[in-house]
Amino acid sequence: MGDYFTCPECGGEDVEVLRERGREVTLRCNECGHVWVMTLPKLLKVPVIVSKHERSFRKYAELPEDEVVKVGDVVELKDDEVRITGIELPEGKRVRKAKASEIGALWGESLRYPKVFGVSIYLPGGITQSFKVMADRDEEFVIGEVIEVGGYTFRVEMIKTERKLMRSGKAKADKIVRLMGHAIRGRARRKLKIYEGYESVGGRGNEG
Ligand SMILES: [Zn+2]
Repeated sequence: MGDYFTCPECGGEDVEVLRERGREVTLRCNECGHVWVMTLPKLLKVPVIVSKHERSFRKYAELPEDEVVKVGDVVELKDDEVRITGIELPEGKRVRKAKASEIGALWGESLRYPKVFGVSIYLPGGITQSFKVMADRDEEFVIGEVIEVGGYTFRVEMIKTERKLMRSGKAKADKIVRLMGHAIRGRARRKLKIYEGYESVGGRGNEG
């Protein structure tokens, strides 16, 4: 949660904090001079199980007690950004959304960790060569482009995302589950890195 306040009198955003006493803050609008007091919502420490592909780590999110969290929301942690994939109430029941004060634990996927997805390359003779690769989540992949993985060059014919199987268009790595296509002769414009597990990514935090 950022410290952004709006003046209730003039709507100005140049607001100064004059005094803080616990969650009670006294504010002044530098545009019209209005002074007012407000009580900030209580922040709760909610456990979050953060997954980085095959590994997971227990962290905490600080959420205002009345904030509603839904599956699919992005929650900021101190050292990560997490997309919520599961919400559990204290008695173990799974729900699609809940108020911070009702949550037992959250599950989420780290968005700072690379996206890991599959590649299936169809070789002559009905053989399929599969790889697990990694890419930055914003990287785009286009049907028709030529890519190299593990010494094989192939043309992307289909992209399987979480929702559909695409035969045209493009998709961001973040949404991709698998790329598929036939091996070809020719030169690839890009080469994908094979994913060799959490330890191989390195330099992305010091989780114990
Ligand atoms: Zn004002």
